[in-house]
Amino acid sequence: MIEKILNYQRYDIKELEEEVINTKDVRLLFLYLFFTKNNKEIIAKEILQTKSYRYIHFILRFFKLDCYKELLNYILNTNNDSCYLYNILYDVDYLSNEYRLEIINKIIYLDNEWYIFKALYYYFVILNLYNEDLFIKLQELVKSKLDINISLDNYKDIFNNILYKNISDPEGFSLNCYQGHKDYIPNIIVCHINNTYNSAIKRFYDSTSDVSSHYVIRRDGHIKQVVSLDDSSWANGTSLKESSDVYYKFATSKLVSSVPDNANYFTFSIEHESFDGTLTDEQIEASVKVMKEIIKYLKDKYNYDFIIDRNHIIGHNEINPVVRKKCPGSKFPFAEIISRLKL
Ligand SMILES: [Zn+2]
Repeated sequence: MIEKILNYQRYDIKELEEEVINTKDVRLLFLYLFFTKNNKEIIAKEILQTKSYRYIHFILRFFKLDCYKELLNYILNTNNDSCYLYNILYDVDYLSNEYRLEIINKIIYLDNEWYIFKALYYYFVILNLYNEDLFIKLQELVKSKLDINISLDNYKDIFNNILYKNISDPEGFSLNCYQGHKDYIPNIIVCHINNTYNSAIKRFYDSTSDVSSHYVIRRDGHIKQVVSLDDSSWANGTSLKESSDVYYKFATSKLVSSVPDNANYFTFSIEHESFDGTLTDEQIEASVKVMKEIIKYLKDKYNYDFIIDRNHIIGHNEINPVVRKKCPGSKFPFAEIISRLKL
């Protein structure tokens, strides 16, 4: 069925749609919607019937449908997971201010400190919005948890101190990696974002997390190498299984969808501390520096000339489009990085 959906142009779309609806399989319904973009409202309602938070999130993230309020109301009335709610707030660009406030208030009510700060940071700093009631709540929270008084003059600095507090880096490399690159000469650099440097480093050195990246670059330009270039990090894996949402044929990068293997083997990955893909000048400089190191490594080790272009320097979303729409985000400065590499 996945092959049929991927090659839907070759089939009678009405028959295919019926077939998909009859399966009652929420994942197939979503993939049909994602690839064909056909009859979105009807398919979305079928998905809502299944009550799958994962795929309801995906619909909201990719499409602004007439029924989006129905989906959001279902989530707000039934879901009590701060992480999930934060991801809805973060992923859905077209939310009305009213819905943003409802989601944030629910996150505050659920009382998970980390997601409250992230949600408020996203609202006040990244979206650059202001709401008096929310500001009062922020004042109360910071006062009770950290005994700090915040005002309109200092709240952005306080946010930065909370989210971006510098911690000392772990020693050496993480064990979260595959040894070597099989028989591949890695030919792609993949750019990622992670909301905060500290949480990325923590996860990449946690042996139970199964994730890592070759490098992480902090907002101040500080670089931490997490995995040796001799090894394959676990940043943008693809699967050979059709049942996986990171199936390799879903990749929009032809270089990835044409290789039936895990993309981690033939890519290098760089994480950047960011919420929306915007990088600081220091980060752009550091990213260019790291890429130059990678290019030199490939020349020294394999006598391979890395091709500096948008097909070979790509975003995580081009490898795993279904699960990683906003990595590295629409504001990521690919053009600037590529032009600086070519100097
Ligand atoms: Zn990513």
